[in-house]
Amino acid sequence: MKREDRKIYNLIYSYDSTVSSIPERKIPLQVIFPECEEDIVEIVKDSNKKGIPLYIRGSGSSVVGNSVPVEKGIIVSLEKMDKIKSLSRVGRLITVEAGITVEKANRYLKKYNLFIPGYPASYKFSSVGGNLASNSSGLLGIRYGILADYVKKLRIVTGSGELLEIGYNAQRSSIGDVLKGLFLGSFGKYGIIYEATLGLLPIEKKVYEYTYQFDTPDTVLRFINEIYGKGILPIKMEIIGNTISDLILNRNEYYMIIMTDKRLKGVKKVEIVNIRTQLSPILSSIRKHKFSIDLSIDLQYFNEFNELIEKKKDENIFIGYYGHIGDGLFHLNICFDKETDKVREVKNSIFDFVEKVNGVISGEHGYGYTKRTWAKKELAANIKYLRRIKGIFDPNNILNRGLDL
Ligand SMILES: Cc1cc2nc3c(=O)[nH]c(=O)nc-3n(C[C@H](O)[C@H](O)[C@H](O)COP(=O)(O)OP(=O)(O)OC[C@H]3O[C@@H](n4cnc5c(N)ncnc54)[C@H](O)[C@@H]3O)c2cc1C
Repeated sequence: MKREDRKIYNLIYSYDSTVSSIPERKIPLQVIFPECEEDIVEIVKDSNKKGIPLYIRGSGSSVVGNSVPVEKGIIVSLEKMDKIKSLSRVGRLITVEAGITVEKANRYLKKYNLFIPGYPASYKFSSVGGNLASNSSGLLGIRYGILADYVKKLRIVTGSGELLEIGYNAQRSSIGDVLKGLFLGSFGKYGIIYEATLGLLPIEKKVYEYTYQFDTPDTVLRFINEIYGKGILPIKMEIIGNTISDLILNRNEYYMIIMTDKRLKGVKKVEIVNIRTQLSPILSSIRKHKFSIDLSIDLQYFNEFNELIEKKKDENIFIGYYGHIGDGLFHLNICFDKETDKVREVKNSIFDFVEKVNGVISGEHGYGYTKRTWAKKELAANIKYLRRIKGIFDPNNILNRGLDL
């Protein structure tokens, strides 16, 4: 690669998909693309010797700065490690390299009528390693859970360059899961996942999709209880809140999109334009700034959540949500032109509410760099233990330095 090209690569890889700016972002010294576990071990051991931090990267689709280097270091991109290593059709197990996308693996699995469930909406371009390191999940989470739920085995290079194999090539194991849990959702801070064995499910043959409209949050909750009362767990259960439907459709109503493998009878269905996938870019365009939180709460607090939004919105601040209501996960967007005291007060009131109901400020994306202040508060009691764990696997703080709490 020419020197100029290398410079451009370094610049591009200093960003991920985060919209808000990260002032501490650094242009990396180098971007390395390992092709096997031996390459990774060599890179990690070398960086330990030299004290140079490594920033681990799947596809760089984090929207909260999880894969942005904040110190001068080297980016280790798993992009080239994207192979399918083995499949046991009858055992419903697949082993893949961490750089593969769920989309690529599922395309291969389709002929066997199997699929990897629990993937995020970014499954076409994000990597399995990134999904697991971020505890990512998506639209079908109500039925299928998160991708991490399907992990049977992980192969990892720790921050000190040791090879670690956790779990088994088996659907069930009653031992070894404690260590596995440490690496899932650890955002590359303890080790580099380079291979994963995942459980598979058969593809549902017949599904039905319905859209419903409701006037109040309470009628939404009643409807959900009715569905559960019938013994149905939908495959997908999404909501578009009233302030967004008012903005886009000029109707102050709540819309729910439900996918099931059973016909739903006796409920009124409505037709609306399919706007779900366009919501994020639309909201980005209505004001100069958009602050997004992927909060997750116990759904019994849904009414209070809506009351808070009603109370806080005004002509200068748009507040609206859409999300995976089946799991109480909402993408809440606060859109404004100027960061005023009122905006800060609105943000804080949302975080205070989440804390009060013992919910979590990130159900999907992680706290990353953009929500550190609140995450430090939320995880205060756990931080000393998390630091000790980091010290075990990455004693020289080589991995994702500066991104930790
Ligand atoms: C349009 C869009 C839609 C999205 N939809 C969703 C969604 O539905 N649900 C959701 O949860 N997220 C979503 N995201 C966010 C993002 O796609 C996920 O967080 C995804 O899991 C990140 O995967 P990645 O490969 O891009 O990881 P990266 O962004 O490269 O990295 C994310 C984190 O994982 C670490 N990491 C990456 N690979 C490894 C590895 N092999 N070993 C150890 N650590 C590693 C990195 O160091 C970093 O901390 C979306 C993003 C976009 C842009």
